[in-house]
Amino acid sequence: MEGFEPDAVIWPYDEQGNQRAFFYSRYAHPTVVQAEARLAALDGGSAVLFPSGTGAVTALVLSLLEPGDTIALAAGCYYGTGVTFGALARWGVRHVEFDQTGPPPAGVQLVWLEAPSNPFQTMPDLEAAAAHPAPVVVDSTVATPVLLRPLEHGADYALHSVTKYLGGHDDILLGAVVCREATAADELRSFRGQTGISPAHEQARLLLRSLDTLEVRVRRQAATAATLAERLRGHPKVETVRYADLGGLLSFDVADGEAARRVETSTRLIANATSLGSVRTLLESRHRWEGDRVPTGLLRLSVGLEDADALWADLESALERA
Ligand code: PLP
Repeated sequence: MEGFEPDAVIWPYDEQGNQRAFFYSRYAHPTVVQAEARLAALDGGSAVLFPSGTGAVTALVLSLLEPGDTIALAAGCYYGTGVTFGALARWGVRHVEFDQTGPPPAGVQLVWLEAPSNPFQTMPDLEAAAAHPAPVVVDSTVATPVLLRPLEHGADYALHSVTKYLGGHDDILLGAVVCREATAADELRSFRGQTGISPAHEQARLLLRSLDTLEVRVRRQAATAATLAERLRGHPKVETVRYADLGGLLSFDVADGEAARRVETSTRLIANATSLGSVRTLLESRHRWEGDRVPTGLLRLSVGLEDADALWADLESALERA
């Protein structure tokens, strides 16, 4: 990629007036290509970056489906995915929910799984989904390629909100689709250029920095999450703990919405903020976003890199107010 000014978004044609590998960054940018190569190696496929996880969802659905098609969506997965599909319903794409721990329903044109689901922490039956005739997408934002490589289990597409663990520092908004077939990635890349759902190259540069530490971050976050899940299970104010034992995300319930609000606003080390996958531990009541889809007392905890005992001390003192 020598000769290409890395901060530019256009590059001159060659001496004969022909376009070179890079000419206009809506189609391709050298830093984006470099970041995509790293993601491709992590998931074992061909990666395409988008401006956000939601942008990746929209681009994938619009490029694969036609009016009249139906998506089978894992119940209890990231609620925003259902919101996005709802917004696309005007263009004739419907979705139905199903229990991803079993086989997807017949007669759908796309199967959409989440590993593990956020915030319910169910794991999909990847084998049953792979046996379905429709293409299979696994949103593996929470598992990350460090803990799960869905393409090796028969999925056609692995999708990531790169904003989360891959970015890891609360300073990146990006999404990615990693395709099992290189031709599928070429089609998606071409659709991205045509529709302009193209990522910012500065964000791709930050992603390259983040990927150097991905594995150590995720392994430590997962180990701390397992410790905290176990301690939460033994706490008298905690009713249910959901942890798939895969990654740094878990959820637990306190008595009701008011108790959840008191807990989330009483932590000192843990930030009361939305999102997940950061080096900082984040806690929030999901009822504010998801309404009756989740219990009123459900709190989602995204475990960061702080000391496990310090995090537990913070949670324990906040739970006194539950
Ligand atoms: N998928 C999952 C599992 C998520 O948790 C999120 C965001 O929270 C998204 C997709 C959407 O990603 P983004 O916020 O980058 O658009």
